[in-house]
Amino acid sequence: VKLSGSASLDSDLKRLLGSGAVLSRSSELYNHDSTELQALSGEPDAVVAPSDSAGLRRLIGWCESHQIPIVPRGGGTGMAGGAVPLDGGIVCSLERMDRVRAFDPEFWRIHVEAGVTTARLRDLARASGLYFPVDPGAAEQSQIGGNTATNAGGPHSFKYGVTRHWVTGLEAVVGGGTELRSGGPTRKDVAGYDLTGLLVGSEGTLGVISSVWLRLIPAPELEIAVIAGYGGIREGVQAILRVYAAGATPATLEFFDPGCIEATRAAFPGSMPHDVSFLVVANVDGTEVAARQAETEIQEVLAPDSVLLRSVADRGSRAQLERWRSGIGFAVAARRGGKVSEDIALPVDRLEEAILGTIRVGDELNLPACSWGHAGDGNVHATFEVDRTVTADLELADAGATRLFELALGLGGTVSGEHGLGWVKRDQFGIRFSKDAQRLQLQIKHAFDPSGVFNPGKKLGTYTSWSPRTPRNPE
Ligand SMILES: Cc1cc2nc3c(=O)[nH]c(=O)nc-3n(C[C@H](O)[C@H](O)[C@H](O)COP(=O)(O)OP(=O)(O)OC[C@H]3O[C@@H](n4cnc5c(N)ncnc54)[C@H](O)[C@@H]3O)c2cc1C
Repeated sequence: VKLSGSASLDSDLKRLLGSGAVLSRSSELYNHDSTELQALSGEPDAVVAPSDSAGLRRLIGWCESHQIPIVPRGGGTGMAGGAVPLDGGIVCSLERMDRVRAFDPEFWRIHVEAGVTTARLRDLARASGLYFPVDPGAAEQSQIGGNTATNAGGPHSFKYGVTRHWVTGLEAVVGGGTELRSGGPTRKDVAGYDLTGLLVGSEGTLGVISSVWLRLIPAPELEIAVIAGYGGIREGVQAILRVYAAGATPATLEFFDPGCIEATRAAFPGSMPHDVSFLVVANVDGTEVAARQAETEIQEVLAPDSVLLRSVADRGSRAQLERWRSGIGFAVAARRGGKVSEDIALPVDRLEEAILGTIRVGDELNLPACSWGHAGDGNVHATFEVDRTVTADLELADAGATRLFELALGLGGTVSGEHGLGWVKRDQFGIRFSKDAQRLQLQIKHAFDPSGVFNPGKKLGTYTSWSPRTPRNPE
């Protein structure tokens, strides 16, 4: 087969999937994802969007017999280059597989195809008084398949857990064009190995997820944000640790460090006293009565040493706060024209060391550094501000990222709490895991993907000895 948009490739794919499924390669949309700085870009040989599982099976069988890489793609909001076709191959977008296969609100469960967006799923659930608590920050664009493939988290993971906690089953097409069904609407299932768990977080390297069964819960009646400001990092982190000691369970428990506050103070809704340099935001939820009770409790826990303490309950003010929260990345990046963020995670009692360590690495490299994130989960978006037009800045940030990974591992943590290894952190596979753990994972990869066509070079990086082609360096 001649690749790169050749007439024979296009006609083969049209014959397999129908002409509506072969998308234009000239749209650069499918060349990149949301990885920092958007510098990571690849060129697919073809972009296809099958409309059903049968088409997906045909496509995968065809890719295997022609030894052509297949790059699964959801909403393209990933931040590790996982959906970027760096080695060419066929981008398989799930956008046309967006049907709701079954929705049983009375039993709090739904079965959706992979291409349903996170926001649509949350809206569907809400309309029936139910709640899907996973809320990664790009929900309008990200898809349930992508959330599942990355085991996405988000602020509400503190109380509600990550995607894995909500997936009761899935269907995926794996090596040999085999349609695998694991789990289903059953809430509990310990028969056999946990294949669902293996596919959750597999970043497109074990197969293409075509549909997902999710459990839902009754929607909370009320959510209240409690905002607490402190004069320093130590006081703020102590407040976060007191939440644990008190046994409080806010839905979210977020932190914002001094550099982050400095970049966003002007946009903060309402006034923020000048002596606030560290912010904690905890959202409590539940029935009206339970949420009000939790508000009082969390206020008491956060009060000592605070220089700002207030609650925001009405929808409009919470939306303003949410807008401020989601604008942080842009505000920080705007200071020097760009940013490089990592998503290290560590045991929560090492949070202060991670925040201070991030600032120290920045100081040593002469790059302004700050962090914010999901404090309750010890998940730190450690960030360097860079001028994206200055190569030296980017090189320093790269060196800084390596130092952050060492910091996280030294604190007993991990190099990625949310975004995965994808392409950008693939080398960490050999650092994070022992030789035995690497071997076992490679054997799993081989069992699911004997031809090595699923997202080669990602997650397991250079260790993917079954990759049909050598990954190209994007530079
Ligand atoms: C502004 C912003 C905020 C974010 N906030 C968060 C956050 O709070 N928490 C968090 O966890 N993440 C966050 N993210 C990252 C991202 O939104 C999540 O990783 C999301 O789950 C990716 O979903 P997607 O559909 O966009 O996947 P994509 O980016 O398209 O793909 C991600 C990976 O999954 C694979 N994949 C996608 N679909 C499938 C499928 N059907 N079958 C097999 N493999 C597949 C791809 O090959 C790739 O490796 C954020 C991103 C942005 C841009």
